Amino acid sequence: MTVETAEDRSNLWFIQSKFREYYWGSIDEIDAPSDMERREFGFFTFNKKPVRHKSFKTIGQLRDFIKVLVPSDAYYSSAYYQKPDAETMGEKNWMGADLIFDVDCDHLPTTCKAEHDEWRCTVCGRFGRGRPPTRCPECGGERLKADMWICDKCLEATKQELLKLICILEEDFGISDREMFAVFSGHRGYHLHVESDTVKSMSSIERKEVVDYVTATGLNPVYHGVTMSERPLIGPSPADIGWGGRLARAIYTLALKTPQELKEAGVDGRLAKMIENNRGRIIEAWERGGVWASLREFAGPKTLERILSKALTFMAASVDTVVTTDIHRLIRLPTTLHGKTGLKVIAMPIHKLAAFEPLRDAIAFTEGDILVKVYKAPKIRLGGHSYGPFLDEEAVLPSAVAIFLICRNKASPL
Ligand SMILES: [Zn+2]
Ligand SMILES: [Zn+2]
Repeated sequence: MTVETAEDRSNLWFIQSKFREYYWGSIDEIDAPSDMERREFGFFTFNKKPVRHKSFKTIGQLRDFIKVLVPSDAYYSSAYYQKPDAETMGEKNWMGADLIFDVDCDHLPTTCKAEHDEWRCTVCGRFGRGRPPTRCPECGGERLKADMWICDKCLEATKQELLKLICILEEDFGISDREMFAVFSGHRGYHLHVESDTVKSMSSIERKEVVDYVTATGLNPVYHGVTMSERPLIGPSPADIGWGGRLARAIYTLALKTPQELKEAGVDGRLAKMIENNRGRIIEAWERGGVWASLREFAGPKTLERILSKALTFMAASVDTVVTTDIHRLIRLPTTLHGKTGLKVIAMPIHKLAAFEPLRDAIAFTEGDILVKVYKAPKIRLGGHSYGPFLDEEAVLPSAVAIFLICRNKASPL
């Protein structure tokens, strides 16, 4: 447990006063989720106290509540209840839930993480850049303190995962874009909400099956038309529906990538070299007998397995299982603020996703500058401009940047 200092408290007080200004000025932007009277609402206060089991009959009631409470974070239930304000799940009486997916940049291996993330072992003090390993390479300890940041590249990679997910849901599940909307969470990624009668009654186990499908968990190419034992190798056509066609398309895409693109896609060096060295032969063999026949010409069974497994990760959507399978989940309420960044949670229709730039379009505090003492921060980019890196220095920063750093406990107002 970390001890809260007087400085932490004054930072919280400062952020709360800024959040109050935002909510008093922009409260009309907060919209009601569909069927709002069936939803449970939950909040965190700036004292980190959870306020749960709230329900509101009208958008006016919800807006008034937020203006008075000024929460650090605001949520509503993906579930619909007969009595959303009852204190136990039994009494609430679950009536169904939207299907929610969470795509987060934490687990994506973006190369920029080596520039903005670092970790330190709390036992031996070993320091490293990028994503923290699961164990300290020096002492084997598991207590690593990570300092992780978001950037345009991380959030763009997250959006690409979301687009893959949307594509699978549309093509393989027949969900239309009118039944879905995307939400920028205000921090590390996006949520996808599917609101439709067909998904509402799904159990947690059924939702787990959907996650396994979109993440290609446990997927065996043999059951999707790839006959590994045949010579020449027989496989699905790129035009096929489902994972068969998706696998074939992935093989074509991988074979056409440059060595640099293969590296960014997480393809290991040996495999990338093999693809690079054989590119001419692969393309030549395609013309004779298609992608699968060409693979067998230069890839043994082991290499083939590695290529197929890479093709799967390449096409699968990286989705957090826990969020989708939790049918009582509280999910962030659009147009409220994220307490760890001061950025807005933004909901949008699917067709707006391509043009959406989170670190430009989710800025809530657009006016004025704030004098702050910054303790430590990498270079950050907000609103189209870059700031930092900072180390123990005073700076006059645009409100959004200063509030972002204070929310992350990396700066204090002076
Ligand atoms: Zn260590
Ligand atoms: Zn990044």
